[in-house]
Amino acid sequence: MATAWQAEPVPDARLLVLDEALAAELGLDAAWLRSPDGVGLLVGTTVPAGAVPVAQAYSGHQFGGFSPQLGDGRALLLGELIDAGGRLRDLHLKGSGRTPFARGGDGLAAVGPMLREYVVSNAMHALGVPTTRSLAVVATGRTVSRETPLPGAVLARVAESHLRVGSFQYARATGDVDLLRRLADHAISRHHPGAAEAEQPYLALFEAVVGAQASLIARWMLVGFVHGVMNTDNMTISGETIDYGPCAFMDAFDPATVYSSIDHGGRYAYGNQPVVAEWNLARLAEAILPLLHNDDEQAVALAVEALGGFRRQYDAAWSAGMRAKLGLSSGVDQAVVSPLVDEMLVLLQADHVDHTSFFRTLAVAGRGDAEPVRRLFADLATIDDWVTRWRALGPDADAMDQVNPLYIPRNHLVEEALSAATDGDLGPFERLLEAVAAP
Ligand code: AMP
Ligand code: MG
Repeated sequence: MATAWQAEPVPDARLLVLDEALAAELGLDAAWLRSPDGVGLLVGTTVPAGAVPVAQAYSGHQFGGFSPQLGDGRALLLGELIDAGGRLRDLHLKGSGRTPFARGGDGLAAVGPMLREYVVSNAMHALGVPTTRSLAVVATGRTVSRETPLPGAVLARVAESHLRVGSFQYARATGDVDLLRRLADHAISRHHPGAAEAEQPYLALFEAVVGAQASLIARWMLVGFVHGVMNTDNMTISGETIDYGPCAFMDAFDPATVYSSIDHGGRYAYGNQPVVAEWNLARLAEAILPLLHNDDEQAVALAVEALGGFRRQYDAAWSAGMRAKLGLSSGVDQAVVSPLVDEMLVLLQADHVDHTSFFRTLAVAGRGDAEPVRRLFADLATIDDWVTRWRALGPDADAMDQVNPLYIPRNHLVEEALSAATDGDLGPFERLLEAVAAP
C-alpha cells in the first residue's frame, strides 16, 4: 500500500514558518531545522540515513463517487519518529512533487493553501480539537500554475498516522483479505490498542473509530468549523482532523454554510457534517465486512448495530459541549436545556448572528450586561425573553469564557493574510497566527 519515492529538488528553499514548540515535542532541534540541512528535511531533499520516504495508496469516495486509485499524488510520508512523550508520529510532506499516484496533477502546492493548513490546524489544536499538526511551510522558489502563476511551497505536517477510511477501501478493493486484516491489525496497535483485548477485535476497532469520529465532529460543530471536503480519503482512523482544503470557521450561524466553490450541492455544508461522517463510517464498515463475520448477513448486522453508536455518541458529546458553552452545570435538567438550545439555534439563524461572538457576549449577559448580546439581534423581544430564561438557570460566565473562543481564524482575515503572504509580506499571517494560538 505504499511505494518508495523521493521528493523533487527545490530550486530556492526559504523557510516561511516553523512551529518551534512542535519541533521540541518531536525531539527536533529548531535551530537545526532552520539550517540548510534542516530545511532540506522539511522539503524532503535531505533524508536521514535509513529513512525510506513513501507515497501511500488509498481509495476514496469523493463527493459520493468512488475513486479506487487516489493516494499521495503530491505528498510523501517521510517516516515515523518517536516524540518526546514516547508516541509514534508520522512526518509527512505535502507539495513535494509528482508521485506515481499523481494522475493529471502537477504534484505541487502553493504558498497560500499550505499556510491556510498551517494556521487553521494551529487554531484547531489551540481549541483542543484533535488534528494533524503543521510543523513548517517552506517556499520552494518554484512557480505553480493555477488560475494564475503562484509561488510554490511544501508543508511538513505531523500526524498520529495517515491511515484513512480510504486506506481500508483500497485494501478491500484489492480483494486480498489478508492485506485487509494486516491493515486492521496495524490500525488497532497504532490507534486503538484496547480493541485487541476485545472478543471481536475488528468490530471493536470499528466501534473505536465510530466513537473517535463522533467526538471529533461534535467538536467541529461546537466551534463552528466547516471542513469542506469530507471525502472518505480525508477521514482518519485515528480521529484527527486531516487535509485542510477549502475549510473555514463559520461567521453567521447557518447550517447551510459552505466555503468550497466546488461543493454546489452543499454536501459538505456545516449542518451536514454529522450525517456525512456517519455515511463515511458506513463505507468503512463495508470495507471491513469480511473481518466482522464469515456470514455476510451477520457481518452487516454487526456493522449496522455498531454504526448506530455514532448518533448516540455524537448527540451526547454535542449536548455536553453545548451545555458547557452555555455555562450550565450538570445539575440543570436536560429536559430544560434541550428546548432552550433548540430555540437558541432558531434565533441565531433567523438573525444571522455571529456564532463565535454570540457565546462571548452571552457570558457578558450572564454577568448582568445584556446590551452586547442584544446588539447581535434584530428581534429584541425574543432574545430578551430567551436570555431571561437562560439566566434563571444560573449560568457560570467564567466557565463559559474557558470554553468559548474569542479568537478564531476568521475567513476574511485568513484570506487577507494569505494574499499578503503570497505577495511576500508575512506580517498579517504572523499576527493572525499569534491570536488564534491563544484563542
Ligand atoms: P485532496 O483534495 O487534497 O484531499 O486530494 C485528493 C487527491 O488528489 C489526493 O489523491 C491527492 O494526492 C490528489 N492531488 C491533489 N492535488 C494534487 C496535485 N497538485 N498533484 C497531484 N495530486 C494531487
Ligand atoms: Mg486528501
